[in-house]
Parts: sequence; structure tokens; C-alpha cells
Amino acid sequence: MTSAARRSVGTPGLLVDRDGTVIRDVGYLSRIEQIEILPRAADALRVLRDCGLKIAIVTNQSAVGRGLLDEKGLEEIHRELEKRLSAAGASIDAIYYCPHHPTEAMGAYRIRCECRKPDTGMALRAAADLDLDLARSYVIGDKQSDMELASRVGARGILLDAKLAANSPAAVKDIWEAAERILADLEARARD
Ligand SMILES: [Mg+2]
Ligand SMILES: [Zn+2]
Repeated sequence: MTSAARRSVGTPGLLVDRDGTVIRDVGYLSRIEQIEILPRAADALRVLRDCGLKIAIVTNQSAVGRGLLDEKGLEEIHRELEKRLSAAGASIDAIYYCPHHPTEAMGAYRIRCECRKPDTGMALRAAADLDLDLARSYVIGDKQSDMELASRVGARGILLDAKLAANSPAAVKDIWEAAERILADLEARARD
């Protein structure tokens, strides 16, 4: 990274996982009918957007590489998801997906790519496209790979894990609670 890039300011953003975070994790979702936005997810995204965060979904979709759907089908699913979120007042700025898998994918999709979380390719692309300051950004997800991504790009990670959240502050029970943590953090930063 050049010193000019380090000096660029950018805005805070939210990199949010898709399956198990915004929509129900059905395991290799491949049809529009399977989309089920989780309770309070649209509200959480709307509130964070209203606070000025740019929002990008970053999602590993090895279902593509495994041949369960093609990229056109995945993009249709994402258009439908964006439409439903936007109808609930929760427009998002972008969706990035990784179609690869290093061992289980077929053909050209079977590569060790730089986009599959916890690698940082999608986050860096979102930062470039949306002019994000990753050091002031947040990652919400339900897997350790999401938290590892946060740590690799210097963002703050918030883990969704209802079981863990029941007796530990290390996790929250859903995306709404994650949004509450982010709001508190933004307020604390504004006071600094
Ligand atoms: Mg997930
Ligand atoms: Zn990839």
C-alpha cells in the first residue's frame, strides 16, 4: 500500500456475511424460494445505514464452484435479496461473493483464491469500490472465518452465536444485537 493510500480517509462501512447472518442458512442455497430474511435483519441494516455506514454483503458461495447453481442464478438470488431488503428500507451498497473452493469445486473454480473468507479479497474490493476506511469498519458474521477476516483487515468483528451469547459477551445472539453494539461503538468514537 502506498503512503497516499494510507492517508486516504474513507468512510466507515459494514461488511456483513449472508448465510446465517442476514438470511437463514439452508446450506448451499440455490433457489430464490429458499431466501428467508432473518428476524430483525432488515431493521438492523436500515438503522446502521441511517447512521452513515456503507453496507456490503461478503459471502463465500462455493455452491457455484460445486455446480449447485451458476453465477447467473446466484446473481438473480442476490438481486431478489436486495429488492426485499430495499423494500424494508434497508438498501445495501454491494454484494460480493466468492464462487471458489480450493479442493471441492469443479474446473476453473477449484483454485486457492484470494477472495474466499477469511482471505481479504472481497473486503479490499469493497473498500476500493465504496471508499471504506476498514480501520473504522465492522464485520458481522456467524463464523470464525468472518472474525478472522475482520482481524486481517483491521476492522471490528462481531460474532453471531446465540449459544455463546447466552453466557458470554464474546458473541451476540442476532444481527440486531450486533447493530446495537455498533451503534454504541459509533457513539463512543464520536465522543473521543
Ligand atoms: Mg454465515
Ligand atoms: Zn474466491
